[in-house]
Amino acid sequence: MTVSTHPEIYADLVAQLSLPEKVTLLTGGTVFTLAPQEKIGLGELRLSDGPTGVRGLKFSGGRVVTLFPNATLLSAAWDTDTAYEVGRLLAEEAMVQELHVVLGPTINLHRSVLGGRLFEAYSEDPLLTGKLAAAYVRGLQDLGVGACLKHLVANESETDRNSMNSVLTEKTLRELYLLPFEIAIEESQPWSLMAAYNDVNGVAATEQVHVNNEIVKGEWGYDGLLMSDWFATKTTAPSANGGLDLVMPGPNGPWGDALVAAVQAGEVEEAVIDDHLVRILRLADRTGALGELRSWPADIPSPTSDVRRDQLTRLAAAGMTVLTNASVEDAPVLPLAPEQTVALIGRHATQTIGMGGGSAEVNAPYQVSLVDGLTPLLATAPVVVDGVEVREKPLPARGDVLTHPDTGAPGVKVEIFAADGTLLDTRHPETAKVLVGFDDNLPAAAARVEFTARTPLTGAIEVGGLGTAAWKVSIGSATTLLVTGGGGASVGSELLAPPYALGPLEVPAGADQVRAVATLADSTGDSTMRAVFNLGLVLRPVADPVAEVLARAAEAAASVDVAVVVVGLTAEQETEAVDKSTIALVGAQDALVSAVAAAARKTVVVVNSATPVLMPWAEDVDAILWAGLPGQEAGHAIAAALLGTIEPAGRLVTTFPTTDGAAPAWEVVPTDGTLTYDEGTFIGHRGHFAGQAPAPAFWFGHGLGYGTWSYGEASLAPGEDSPSVSVSVTNTGTRTSREVVQVYLAPAGADEPVRLVGWSAATVQPGASASVTVETDARLWRRWDEAADAWGEPLTGGELLVARGLGDVQARLPLA
Ligand code: BGC
Repeated sequence: MTVSTHPEIYADLVAQLSLPEKVTLLTGGTVFTLAPQEKIGLGELRLSDGPTGVRGLKFSGGRVVTLFPNATLLSAAWDTDTAYEVGRLLAEEAMVQELHVVLGPTINLHRSVLGGRLFEAYSEDPLLTGKLAAAYVRGLQDLGVGACLKHLVANESETDRNSMNSVLTEKTLRELYLLPFEIAIEESQPWSLMAAYNDVNGVAATEQVHVNNEIVKGEWGYDGLLMSDWFATKTTAPSANGGLDLVMPGPNGPWGDALVAAVQAGEVEEAVIDDHLVRILRLADRTGALGELRSWPADIPSPTSDVRRDQLTRLAAAGMTVLTNASVEDAPVLPLAPEQTVALIGRHATQTIGMGGGSAEVNAPYQVSLVDGLTPLLATAPVVVDGVEVREKPLPARGDVLTHPDTGAPGVKVEIFAADGTLLDTRHPETAKVLVGFDDNLPAAAARVEFTARTPLTGAIEVGGLGTAAWKVSIGSATTLLVTGGGGASVGSELLAPPYALGPLEVPAGADQVRAVATLADSTGDSTMRAVFNLGLVLRPVADPVAEVLARAAEAAASVDVAVVVVGLTAEQETEAVDKSTIALVGAQDALVSAVAAAARKTVVVVNSATPVLMPWAEDVDAILWAGLPGQEAGHAIAAALLGTIEPAGRLVTTFPTTDGAAPAWEVVPTDGTLTYDEGTFIGHRGHFAGQAPAPAFWFGHGLGYGTWSYGEASLAPGEDSPSVSVSVTNTGTRTSREVVQVYLAPAGADEPVRLVGWSAATVQPGASASVTVETDARLWRRWDEAADAWGEPLTGGELLVARGLGDVQARLPLA
């Protein structure tokens, strides 16, 4: 679709509205829509979250939609064509739901690996992030669906996210955290941006005259719309004057009548209001919601279609990264041969994790486990051992242990009552969870929620409740009382990381009726939102002792040619609203790997996480495949990567530290509300390379694929703004493979960090060579001059490193 906009009419349209009418349009109409205005032909603009799938207009329990591989897995392909394709597919997913804007990509950087939301963002590197974001935006917008770069800016962790203050120098801001936004805006003109929750140097991101007005809309000439993150706007005049165009969500919020009054009092000029509105009209115009409304294509592949299955499998597998691959009996352990006998061990093998948590979650049609994905491809069915527990928090019970009391269908009956006993709503979810007070029409008066079901569980079990409430769980005559959390809901804690309590219950013989009553705690809430309760009922058998599981795993491992043990993280760690405190694997997963490695002839570990984890057993196993969070086709994609039907050609997008704390930036807990970015521009590999942290377990850019390579002599050629590097690479292996040639600038002296300045890839057949030219990006040669408060002279001197990841430098080219 080509976008034909009508800038000449915006001013006329604005002039037709009264001040209150204009201001009404500057706050959302609902949680995910903008208010229409018939008088000027403005239709309803509909937004949806989007980093890993287009969820639609409901935060939870919405339509079944396609679940994509997570952002770090996609970015590990180091391929702008991949990012473009993902953008196009997301646009299709949006169009079939008649949505105008997808709230992505997330382009905050991986400053500390503890950041809960890293799985949604691309990388620790600003160039890789900016380039991939630009391609993703083009993919979306080429089909007429708006993108939204988020979250502007310095929003790299989640702890105290609504109030924390990121403190950083102008140099760090310009050279590092603003750079992905700058690159994406320059190269793809995204139609919207989202202002973050946090403060930046003491000023709320929603009120940042410096960032929003001076830099983004001023220096960069950005003509799109800046919306707030959800409930992020704290003030009226300072945010309206600070470059924020739209308050989300609506219809309530700090603007409305208060903004009309602020204009009347002379605190905000009406021209400022008009500019915000023009930007909304431009977005509506670009996305087909102004004047003649756009038509939507109907022939989009469904989430369960073969087309989507193939696309998602290919996209996920291509980013998977071979971290180690030893030769045993003269042959590399990976790829596996279908004739080998295999044991599949670990909870992540039986329940492979496809996505992280928070606003990026979608209601996926299914998530294929590795057991289901790999079994049909092997000559002999694998020996399967469901491993040790991988979560600290319990999950809400599902239809396998709960059936509806009236219909007998898998699931549970949920009734929501007001304090006076009035029944407000009845629901029948398949998983025993319910969200009350968010994207529903319930009054804030909901006071009690009852779950009823039948269960086949017998004997000693565990029951529990998630969500801020007093829980009474009964089965027959047995009852367990539990109280969770302290009360007082906020978007972060209650919606995305509800508290929980768990206790034992002995199911009386013959009893199968479950009744759980959650009496909701009083919510202190806050002025911008009603009480929100994210409730879940837990019901599960008591887990087997760890020693028993390890013994079973070792026995299985010893009985086959290759043991594949799958470990990883879950949405407990890879989530919005909560940071990690360690990158160690939860529970006894390390012990599980060690037990398998000690017993198996060959051990392959698959790491099912979006972000780095500690691997104390790395030396004891034969191969490690990092698999990210692969989306709904997880098991198919990992199977393809293990068997080599698709090359896992990924290169790491984040440095993997050796131990907790062994990284240039670690801490994510603010002190007195402030998180100081002390490491400046030396995050991740930049700091490791400078010796500010020990050498990592795996460097940024590392990834072996299934090829082996020899590099020819590299040469330097001057370019218009910055030089380019050419090198010939020869595939010395036996399989066609994709090589990513990375070029880093190592400036002279210790003041400036090493940085990626360009990359280029070639797919080469065995025995063949390819000449690869990498154009370096002039924006990475710039230096911010703090004294002059301006860009200074670009960097000179030092050398360019041609590398396969910073741990494997192939050539050094001195610079004049
Ligand atoms: C997140 C945003 C998201 C928004 C709407 C917020 O909690 O930070 O990234 O787009 O919710 O769901």
